[in-house]
Amino acid sequence: MTTSPRPPLTGKTRLVGVIGWPIEHSVSPPMHNAAFEALGLDWCYVPFAVAPERVAEALSGVRVLGLRGINATVPHKQALLSLVDELTPAARAIGAVNTVVIAENGRTLGHNTDAAGFLRSLREAGVAPEGASALVLGAGGAARAVVYALASIGARVTILNRTPARAEALAADMAGAAAGEPPRAGALTPEALVALGAGADLVVNSTSLGMWPHTETSPWPEEVPFPGGAFLYDLVYNPRRTRLMAQAEAAGARAVDGLRMLVHQGAEALTMWTGVAAPVEVMYRACERALEGG
Ligand code: NAP
Repeated sequence: MTTSPRPPLTGKTRLVGVIGWPIEHSVSPPMHNAAFEALGLDWCYVPFAVAPERVAEALSGVRVLGLRGINATVPHKQALLSLVDELTPAARAIGAVNTVVIAENGRTLGHNTDAAGFLRSLREAGVAPEGASALVLGAGGAARAVVYALASIGARVTILNRTPARAEALAADMAGAAAGEPPRAGALTPEALVALGAGADLVVNSTSLGMWPHTETSPWPEEVPFPGGAFLYDLVYNPRRTRLMAQAEAAGARAVDGLRMLVHQGAEALTMWTGVAAPVEVMYRACERALEGG
């Protein structure tokens, strides 16, 4: 696809970016720059490789350099919690900052747009999660945003994780945010999937199983039938169709990957920085092209 070149960078160009370690595979720069181009905004989004021990310096640096905001990806989302001037309730509850808004006076506000991005993409797929029975697989960073999002709108959440103590800690952390009953937790075993799968309206994979290069892996054992009446949301988006999605679809279930969540968390961030509605479909197509290597 041909796109018109962005205007030359000048002293008026507004800068934003993303910090991560490593950062070279991030699709956020093409996603945001495509959005700025489509909107005709003289903004530019730059990737920065920042070593874990240098996050505080990086935050000071971007303030001094006049950036309007930054995204943070692995492994910096937790470190920013104690470095920003203020946190939103979602960022505090989830325990991670993925978007920083930097005011004109340099004051920093830490947000988490992953939870909102997840919910928006779920609703877009036609799922009404309020009151639904949700089985969340995994208890890492992504699961924290998913469990917060679901529990805070009244879904009944059970977290299953390879390391059950992490699932229990996550359930306890999110109990205060729950609009309905507090999340429950257990071990990710075939027995638990058989027992809980049958009653689930929604299954969310927030483990890293199935992600490139381990595309043959799945958190759902082949011998356990996937519940055909459930909706599968797989947070993995590389590959676009995971082994778990194939298992779910073979059982008659609807399944989506995590790319729309990535796009919607980016769209939320872009709107916070610019005050402009984000061109979601432009951003989605830019991600698709980036993942295809285009
Ligand atoms: P993380 O913090 O490292 O957590 C990884 C999770 O996977 C943990 O629950 C871990 O269990 C589990 N796991 C790893 N290997 C396993 C195995 N062999 N068997 C069973 N469980 C295993 O990672 P994360 O940041 O949460 O990311 C998880 C996935 O979500 C990744 O694929 C990532 O790309 C995706 N993600 C997508 C989006 C999006 O916008 N779509 C956003 C964020 C993340 P233990 O606790 O037992 O180690």
